[in-house]
Amino acid sequence: MLESLHNHTTASDGEMSHETFLNEAAANGIGIVGFTDHDSLPSLSTVTHLRDLSRENPALPKWIVGIEMSSGLPKELGGQPYSGLHIVGIFVNPENQTLIDHCARSKQARIERMAEMVANLRRLGFSISEADCLLASEGESVGRPHIVRALVWHPPVAKCDQPAARPPREPGCDGPAEGAHAPGGPEQERYQRILDEPTQEPYTLFLADGAFIPGVYVEYKYTLDMDSCVRLIREAGGLAILAHPCTCKSKIPLAMAEQMLAEGRFDGIEVVFGKERDAADRAAARDIAERLRTRMPPVVMGGGGDIHTLEGMREWSAAPWAQQTRGLLEALLAARPDLKTTWSSLAQSS
Ligand SMILES: [Zn+2]
Ligand SMILES: [Zn+2]
Repeated sequence: MLESLHNHTTASDGEMSHETFLNEAAANGIGIVGFTDHDSLPSLSTVTHLRDLSRENPALPKWIVGIEMSSGLPKELGGQPYSGLHIVGIFVNPENQTLIDHCARSKQARIERMAEMVANLRRLGFSISEADCLLASEGESVGRPHIVRALVWHPPVAKCDQPAARPPREPGCDGPAEGAHAPGGPEQERYQRILDEPTQEPYTLFLADGAFIPGVYVEYKYTLDMDSCVRLIREAGGLAILAHPCTCKSKIPLAMAEQMLAEGRFDGIEVVFGKERDAADRAAARDIAERLRTRMPPVVMGGGGDIHTLEGMREWSAAPWAQQTRGLLEALLAARPDLKTTWSSLAQSS
């Protein structure tokens, strides 16, 4: 069975409820599911409902309560918000008050951040409102995917969803650093992403740090520095795993991540993430985890599909690299016998 320890539901920017996710995962050959919503925990009633479902239908995939924290940089790099650094916590206690407080504060900060991006978009002439975005988020942690969803509700900008040519760049605007346009440079890589994935276009155009059109994207307003995020996850009983290391490698190169793992600043690293083009990074992350397998406690391997939609689930489960998730959980549990599996269906007899 495939294992996806990193996924999103309607509790953040995913499109499926926890229950729908489990049912669809079963149909797509996924045997283990981690629910890791952005700075959001499942409520106790959701967990109770999940336990009931697992009891009624033992064939459902196993599930694990988790979280994906948007982290600030480590203090030695300034500690400030940085959208590329995410930390997945699995087996966390959803009743941990410090973690709950963090989620509440983060949710409020996300609303303020969204309001600023909406104001910036309106200045550019887009028809979009804060209410649209909140409606798109269905009451959960609002994020950029909800802004994108709300943008295309208004016919004049429906073309946001369509592939388009690269927009011209104004000379003298706040652009990327000299050399960024060079082959292999970050600008080139972003452009390639537009061509590869039209759904990424709004992000590449204006909704990301360093997007083609500056002045729209707003950085996270509230994040804890990296080590504080890890501490929070550990204090809630979970393991802290560096998520998709390819998205933070411009600030935290893999060699630095390896050093941090060796120092015990994370419990593990994702080795399955991203798209086909991320194969080299997946292999490098796995090499790091292999090298640190003998440290005590051993560095664990995590990862999965980072699944947000049913279509995304189908695509991921058919991708060859999804096969690399087989056995992840078994190895993780063997490496960390101290781990309490209370907040998962593993702790359930039947
Ligand atoms: Zn992430
Ligand atoms: Zn994620």
